[in-house]
Amino acid sequence: MPDRLNASAGGGGLMGEIIEIDRIRCDGHGLCAELLPERISLDDWGYPILKKGPVPENLSELARRAVDACPVLALRRVVGQFAEGEAS
Ligand code: SF4
Repeated sequence: MPDRLNASAGGGGLMGEIIEIDRIRCDGHGLCAELLPERISLDDWGYPILKKGPVPENLSELARRAVDACPVLALRRVVGQFAEGEAS
């Protein structure tokens, strides 16, 4: 489990889903940004920049598709409670 997950219930954090990236695996295909431009942009080298904070519910399905479409499995969805300001 990522450090960012606040496992303690009632900790005042945000419940939701975030997308995490394994930057070692990512090879900059850019597909994720095409599928989820509301949450993912690309830097000058074509590598993704993820918006901070939980994915809004209305984008959850698109987030799932973006994660599933990554050809090198560099993305994953994490559902849980996050300390405010720490979720990415
Ligand atoms: S689709 Fe995967 S490999 Fe391509 S930029 Fe996004 S995270 Fe990186």
